[in-house]
Amino acid sequence: MLGAPVNVIKGIGPETEKDLQSLNIYTVEDLLLHFPYRYESYHIKDLAKAQHDEKITVKGKVHSEPSLRFFGKKKSRLSFRMFVDEFLISAIAFNRAFLKSKIKIGETVLVTGKWDAHRAQLTVLEIQIGDRRRGRAIEPVYQTKGNLTVRAIRNYVSEAFKQLETLDIPDPLPTKIRQAYKLPDYMTALHTLHFPDRPDKLKHSRRRMVFQELFYFQIKMQLFKYLNRESGSGLALPIQQEVIDQFVGQLPFSLTEAQSQVVNEVLKDLRSAYRMNRLLQGDVGSGKTVVAAIALYGVATCGFQGALMVPTEILAEQHAESLHALLSPFNVSVALLTSGIKGKRRKALLSALEAGEIQIIVGTHALIQEEVKFNKLGLVIADEQHRFGVEQRRALRSKGEEPDVLHMTATPIPRTLAISAFGDMDISTIDQLPAGRKRIQTSWVKHDQLHDVLQFISRQVKQGRQAYVICPLIEESEQLDVQNAIDVHAQLTQAFKGISIGLMHGRLSSEEKDEVMEAFKNNKSQILVSTTVVEVGVNVPNATVMVIYDADRFGLAQLHQLRGRVGRGNFQSYCILISDAHSEVSKERMRIMTETTDGFELSEYDLKLRGPGDFFGHKQSGLPDFKIADIVHDFKALDVARRDAERLLETKAFWHDEDYAIIRKDLENQGVFTGERLD
Ligand code: ADP
Ligand code: MG
Repeated sequence: MLGAPVNVIKGIGPETEKDLQSLNIYTVEDLLLHFPYRYESYHIKDLAKAQHDEKITVKGKVHSEPSLRFFGKKKSRLSFRMFVDEFLISAIAFNRAFLKSKIKIGETVLVTGKWDAHRAQLTVLEIQIGDRRRGRAIEPVYQTKGNLTVRAIRNYVSEAFKQLETLDIPDPLPTKIRQAYKLPDYMTALHTLHFPDRPDKLKHSRRRMVFQELFYFQIKMQLFKYLNRESGSGLALPIQQEVIDQFVGQLPFSLTEAQSQVVNEVLKDLRSAYRMNRLLQGDVGSGKTVVAAIALYGVATCGFQGALMVPTEILAEQHAESLHALLSPFNVSVALLTSGIKGKRRKALLSALEAGEIQIIVGTHALIQEEVKFNKLGLVIADEQHRFGVEQRRALRSKGEEPDVLHMTATPIPRTLAISAFGDMDISTIDQLPAGRKRIQTSWVKHDQLHDVLQFISRQVKQGRQAYVICPLIEESEQLDVQNAIDVHAQLTQAFKGISIGLMHGRLSSEEKDEVMEAFKNNKSQILVSTTVVEVGVNVPNATVMVIYDADRFGLAQLHQLRGRVGRGNFQSYCILISDAHSEVSKERMRIMTETTDGFELSEYDLKLRGPGDFFGHKQSGLPDFKIADIVHDFKALDVARRDAERLLETKAFWHDEDYAIIRKDLENQGVFTGERLD
């Protein structure tokens, strides 16, 4: 019955059915899972505790004859005075002239409206004569479409429950779990969510549905992992430890403990038939690139190819260069592919790749184009992976037969998001910076202190260091009052005679970008004025100053990324945030930036300030779309659900226990056991 088409509910004809379908409601169960997005409360409010502008319901006694005024066509204003307990207030109702004859002195009325505390006045939304409210004290409010009204949905839901009443509907959650967490049963929870009579019951019902949703989700995630592991369809590369040790031994530095650990985790996956799907997270500057290099080297020693995909051309070039430096002494060939490489060169490169003559290729999304073919692709790495959509990552992966996949990110992912958005991945973390790094000193200044900032840059440059100056937009925009990179460049050129200043923004061609970047790298220019093109990954260890104009326009994760461009060598480095920070939130963000350089702490904070949808700030965050759960708010439940799901699959109870029959069936219907993985 729950699975029956929604039109079995009395009163739902073809038109209504269409409207419901546009809300993704096809079955009776879909309708019941179309939860109110908020509730109207008609509980009587103690006026003494009401806030200004709050919507409240009060019970009062009419004290004056209503007076009625008309204005304009059909417009009217009705007002009367009433006692609510000891308070004498006025009530105003617009365009409800018909009430005039109904409201009589001495009568008890229930009035819902917006409370103006300064004027002791209630603007009426609803009024009922008498002291008993007809209807419910808490009313659900639904999202609607087409001709659907909230009231109609309420009626359909109510009708559905009536029709279901006599049926014995099984509960998808096992009794054990329900008892352990004291959760109401399925139908009760559903009913309460639509027709709550008390806030505490509503809360428990919500808790139950949240848990169910998260538990299902986590089982799904764990299943993906489990099935992937069991299938053993990945490549088992016989990477020799001596070869790796030799390679690591000749690096100009020794690996941090965290790096070694992560290298081992990655190698273990590469050597096993388990198809790696691993997320490597590490704060900016923690040294992820070398981990990638070691993995790619290992793959190459087994006769396979590796691909490293990065979001920008600048980064692609930089990575190609550093990989070439690391790998060519070991006779591993590294090539670069970007959209800037054209014509004959491109053709030659592509055929060398297809012939297997190129072992490692680094590139932008140019790598996923149709024409790019590999000989034996063994490992795919996506750097700054959150900058790519799910489709792009999948496209790259599909260029080989079940290659291992490593995703790297410098945006530390709050645990909350990690176990939801990346629940089907294994996670490795580099939680340690290379020794000798000095903490970046961050300060926050107002625009009128710009002069001091420039002085500071000048002193650093005189000491041989370099500086970035970041501007949010490249085009003049008066409304937005944002500094323009071109203007800032002109200004600085004025201010710093004899210092060479580069200008970088998205409108430059790739050749121009190369030139500008190259000049800055070689200290031919000492200051680089740029838009956020340099945000990710750029590595110029001699740069010690990062100045960010209008810093409040950036998210914390992005500011942290930008700040990570300095402090990459042994020199003390500085980050200067310029912002007049008008709002409290902006001020708060500037403050937290000056207080911590820990990316994890910042990302937790960012998540709280901006919410999960905005967290990544880019197209596809890969976050699941929950009906009722909220991964930030319901984090604890998410964690509990994850542990339960893990345990369930470990004990194998999931596969045969009668308790899980409904969940198994649901997941089977969703194609989880046979179909595509999420990513
Ligand atoms: P990210 O994790 O931000 O991508 P990179 O891989 O670009 O960081 O590394 C930042 C800098 O630190 C590079 O110059 C790199 O050579 C250096 N580095 C990496 N690992 C170590 C280490 N163990 N000791 C010293 N320097 C290191
Ligand atoms: Mg990097």
